[in-house]
Amino acid sequence: MKIVALVGGVGGARFLLGLKAALGVPGSGEHEITALVNVGDDIWLHGLRICPDLDTCMYTLGGGIDSERGWGRAGETWTIRDELAEYGAEPTWFGLGDRDVATHLIRTRMLRAGYPLSAVTEALCARWQPGVRLLPASDDRVETHVVVDDPDGGDQGGQKAIHFQEWWVRHRAALKAHRFASVGAEEATPAPGVLAALAEADAVLLAPSNPVVSIGTILAVPGIADALRAGRARVVGLSPIVGGRPLRGMADACLDAIGVATTAEAVGRHYGARGAGGVLDGWLVHDSDWADVPGVAVRAVPLLMTDVEATAKMASHALELAGVGGA
Ligand code: GDP
Ligand code: CA
Repeated sequence: MKIVALVGGVGGARFLLGLKAALGVPGSGEHEITALVNVGDDIWLHGLRICPDLDTCMYTLGGGIDSERGWGRAGETWTIRDELAEYGAEPTWFGLGDRDVATHLIRTRMLRAGYPLSAVTEALCARWQPGVRLLPASDDRVETHVVVDDPDGGDQGGQKAIHFQEWWVRHRAALKAHRFASVGAEEATPAPGVLAALAEADAVLLAPSNPVVSIGTILAVPGIADALRAGRARVVGLSPIVGGRPLRGMADACLDAIGVATTAEAVGRHYGARGAGGVLDGWLVHDSDWADVPGVAVRAVPLLMTDVEATAKMASHALELAGVGGA
């Protein structure tokens, strides 16, 4: 069976761990999981290319993640960050761990030698053996920027766009976001393998990732949403919103900016029914929630990724709703 999952960072990576457990991958050779990973958070820092969501997936699935923090390497040290700070090197708000830097050095060297991000990711995964094929949604630049008020914008109260990471990490999403801009998205194409994976999939799952800046950015790459709609596989999403709140992070600030309420129902309606210009056939909400999404089969099941076993159950429910259960 071939399963495709659209994923962001921490929420996406944890979901993939559960999906892998639910399917008993790898080893059997029977099932294949392909993850289409968000690249909207990617950024150049100190001359290095950083891909936070790809790395979170790779480290989580490969057993190298700091599971307490949810991102970065286990057993990390911070000498490079501290030395950069001594030089006053900007930006200081994004800490690169020493172990993590090795990944960014290899990635940057390969990109500079002309390899596309998808090939670089494959090379890095040779070490981590994630057991899931990790494909960047695009090899092209698709970079999320956030339009915020510009305090130096003069009397008219101007606005400026800052990189998503600056808004999220430096400002903790506390600056009001007027809108998001996906820089480069219009000209971007899906990475090699993305459309074929969607065409061949038996089921497509939207992880309980940020609906705006993770899943939304993947769907903004021209061709991907159309391939979901055209494919023979049913598409099932899992709500990242439980009891009217995101479980980790500040997804509510992202939903506010696009005028979508922070509820499982509003996010389901935002994704919309596949038959009505949206992408969903099924929508899973947490068992204390309910949602009415026209044209979409909704089920309420436990959606807390407390451990791999609980997450595997979530994934099994999603596969069942996609019509490929009992695997
Ligand atoms: P990021 O790129 O690291 O921000 O991670 P993602 O976009 O993949 O996932 C972030 C989302 O995961 C947040 O909006 C959370 O609400 C959601 N999330 C985190 N833990 C859980 C969980 O246990 N259950 C559910 N349903 N959602 C979760
Ligand atoms: Ca992310």
